[in-house]
Amino acid sequence: MNAEFVHRRDSPVQDACAEDWRVRSSPEQLLSGLTVGGGETRCTGCARALREGERVLVYAYRMANEREWTVARYYCRTCRTDELEAPTLCASEALAEATLGTVYNGREQTHAHCLLAVDPVTMSQPSEGRPR
Ligand SMILES: [Zn+2]
Repeated sequence: MNAEFVHRRDSPVQDACAEDWRVRSSPEQLLSGLTVGGGETRCTGCARALREGERVLVYAYRMANEREWTVARYYCRTCRTDELEAPTLCASEALAEATLGTVYNGREQTHAHCLLAVDPVTMSQPSEGRPR
């Protein structure tokens, strides 16, 4: 898949749903290395704790007026779905496969999972779907 997300960096929030093709980057770039919370990462479907090195499916979104992606859900191999249930207007949404890695914060002495080897499955653009 080689579709691309569109970033809007210099546009007013009120027309944030409009398309702007000036800045692009791929979901791989956007999600790779993204830290996904500290401590445990659990499957949204079965609540099983996901382990480092495990191949997972993640659901991530970015509202049109935000820069950062938010990974909202994780799925294990058993619970994964390959389709976005209901695309949300004004949000870029993506399903992607990723391997869970671990990052260590030496200063705070905490571990967190991060996304490695990201492989997009499907995505929707801000102009698709209905208002949240
Ligand atoms: Zn599961």
